Amino acid sequence: MADLPPPTLRLRIDEGALAANWRTLDAMSGAATAGAAVKANAYGLGVDRVMPALLTAGARDFYVAHWGEVPEVARHVTAGAISVLHGVLTPADAAFAREIGARPVINSLHQAQIWLTTGGGVCDLMVDTGINRLGLAMDDIGDPLLAQLEVDMLLSHLASADEDVPLNTVQLDRFRIACGAIPARRRSLANSAGIALGADFAFDGTRPGLSLYGGIPRAELEDRISQVAFPQAAVMQIRTVQAGDSIGYNATYTAERRMRVGVVSLGYADGFLRCRGPGGALLHNTCEVPVLGRVSMDMVVVDLSAAQGIKEGDWLNVPMDLSAAAAQSGLSQYELLTVLGRRFS
Ligand SMILES: *Cc1c(COP(=O)(O)O)cnc(C)c1O
Repeated sequence: MADLPPPTLRLRIDEGALAANWRTLDAMSGAATAGAAVKANAYGLGVDRVMPALLTAGARDFYVAHWGEVPEVARHVTAGAISVLHGVLTPADAAFAREIGARPVINSLHQAQIWLTTGGGVCDLMVDTGINRLGLAMDDIGDPLLAQLEVDMLLSHLASADEDVPLNTVQLDRFRIACGAIPARRRSLANSAGIALGADFAFDGTRPGLSLYGGIPRAELEDRISQVAFPQAAVMQIRTVQAGDSIGYNATYTAERRMRVGVVSLGYADGFLRCRGPGGALLHNTCEVPVLGRVSMDMVVVDLSAAQGIKEGDWLNVPMDLSAAAAQSGLSQYELLTVLGRRFS
């Protein structure tokens, strides 16, 4: 096939910042070792782009949610380093786990039964200490079936580590009880925000995701975590609108004066959701160019009044300071990353 022409949408990953974020989170984990959550295509940044940097930095334990996510990660690391958070829902999951060599995170007595009756082997085990999603119920931690499992990592997951609420210590206390009841080689409780809660929450392994990729769920991480994802979109056309002209679907914006506007190759299919329109802007170098009217699927129109010397084909920066973008849009920092589409190069 012919070579693709130059793109109008690109995503720069700062691999140095990514590696530094992992090292920071690993150091903040104290005696514990930080792993890396790479589910959802590494939070939208691309498994192939982040794995080399994470491996070079020193990450050894990787977490995905679905079995379908394993092959891509396993191109970079031995499958034995990958844990699958959804566990085994069916015997087919268990068969695939054994064939590919990744560990299921067992989430219930029923999953334990599936794993054991299909042959057993090393697995992880998630205990639910208060989030009430997947995870073995605390009432089941003494079940004799569990003694048959070969548990590598015993896990639990914090519901509100990004807040200072009593639930954090409630979950910590319950996890300690689970650790006393269930033999395992290693234990893990903290996600990114949990790492900032301190050494009590670190155990043997931590599981950062968001903060690897530049997310700041707690103030303690603010000066230590750097932005990793830098999307850019090209100006495809510059046009002039007259006073009274409206812009975009449903004519939600009407120009009050003659103005120069830019049509940019970025839309909600690229993760620039409609909520990033009102009050939002792109950046020409460091100059803000406000979004005008609705964000379309493939385009957005911006006000170029303040952009000196801009021309068609120039690149605009998409603001991805995650705290600021979350505040502007009402989206979570997680959503801002994971909705990035597949059209970036
Ligand atoms: C996604 C996930 C993580 C990573 O959490 P962050 O808040 O992104 O750091 C850790 N553990 C489990 C079980 C998860 O589902």
